[in-house]
Amino acid sequence: MDLNAYLNKEIRCSCGRTHYASAKAVFIEKDALKRIPGFIQEAGYTHVLLAADPNTWKAAGEKTAELLRQANIQYSCVVLEENEPIPNETAIGRLFTAMPADTDLILGVGSGVINDLCKYVSYRTGIKCMLAATAPSMDGFVSVGAALILNHVKVTVDTHSPEAVFADTEILKEAPMKLIAAGLGDTLGKYTCLLDWKLSRIINDEYYCEEIAQMAETSLKTVRELALSGKVEKRDPEAIASLAEALVMTGIAMAYAGNSRPASGCEHHMSHFWEMKALMNHLYPDLHGAQVGVGLVFALKLYHALAKEEPDFNALKQRTFDRDAWETMIRTYYAEAAPGILELEAKAGKNDLQKRNHRLDVICEHWTEIRELIETELPKTGEMVSVLRSLQAPVTVSELGFPSEWVRETILCAKEVRDRYTMLQLLWDLGLSERYADMADAFEKELSEGHEHA
Ligand SMILES: [Zn+2]
Ligand SMILES: [Zn+2]
Repeated sequence: MDLNAYLNKEIRCSCGRTHYASAKAVFIEKDALKRIPGFIQEAGYTHVLLAADPNTWKAAGEKTAELLRQANIQYSCVVLEENEPIPNETAIGRLFTAMPADTDLILGVGSGVINDLCKYVSYRTGIKCMLAATAPSMDGFVSVGAALILNHVKVTVDTHSPEAVFADTEILKEAPMKLIAAGLGDTLGKYTCLLDWKLSRIINDEYYCEEIAQMAETSLKTVRELALSGKVEKRDPEAIASLAEALVMTGIAMAYAGNSRPASGCEHHMSHFWEMKALMNHLYPDLHGAQVGVGLVFALKLYHALAKEEPDFNALKQRTFDRDAWETMIRTYYAEAAPGILELEAKAGKNDLQKRNHRLDVICEHWTEIRELIETELPKTGEMVSVLRSLQAPVTVSELGFPSEWVRETILCAKEVRDRYTMLQLLWDLGLSERYADMADAFEKELSEGHEHA
């Protein structure tokens, strides 16, 4: 697949919008690092800052530095102390203070955290950045958002995409399996996220672009096939390259849509919820993609159950809403984060009864279509559980290192983290949240006991 056909040019789309992804080039191939010196020289940069952590320095940093030296490109290096640096003020400060005044390009060597830090410092200083990728672990390679932890809170800050990404498949395939599995989880999570988008198009008349969804779906299906064939587990270079392509493609899809809709649905809301809870409870969050993989497993389980429901829509419209009880629940489960969540609901009105009843009318009208979409678009829960397990990836909340009590509250509350319509809000509309929270809780136990059923 030539990803470069999608980059750095305006694309007039059948959806009526013009799409644009600002990255200039992405190279996913053997020896991709060797392209770096030529690319830098052609772009006219002369003073490069290389940024890495100890692991990524070993994986690709030394080699990149050597290539720059051979090409007589001036560079300096900053290698963060920690093997798993946290993208917070300390790391940002470290990067910034290590940067000589004449730096005109930041070249990150790493994947998630290093890319986020470099994008952020680059954006704030107006100095361009590029990335030498070391692991296919997340879909933020060419996205504009940087996931940071500022003042102890997880935030996504608007930045810009690296100008170019160089992903050497020989290096990527040697990445720790945990990182490869995380990239797979983040990619497979697109199944539920794309369905959430399709349903919101039907239910809320939300903007939807068939071309963008297709781009994401095509690479997603390729990755699913390769994962099922065991090639990801075997670190087959072609499979690893396809995974990296799918991750970049998701970044392009987000750039085209202008937000994260094509990349983030209920499975991501669950992941965000766990991450916030983890930080508040002084637990270390797992890798983003690992969390998304678990979110996917629960989302699939509940979606497939939903496809069998025959709701009594007239009765559903008569229900009242105990806002006080809801607020108490939010304050209990979100703790310090509750004020922000309550503020969001005050603005978004996700739980407003008039809006709910309007949605119920539309859902009723399209119920057959919605059920069919669920059955045709989604893989079986058991299939995804096996694929993730084959890479030793977690499939339950307790395997993420979190208390399994969080499962129930996740189904009840995770929808409140964003104003975005997903399956979790659909469950609430249909009065199924409580029952499905119990179902998820039982599924967590079933999976933990190793008796999963498809
Ligand atoms: Zn479009
Ligand atoms: Zn993600």
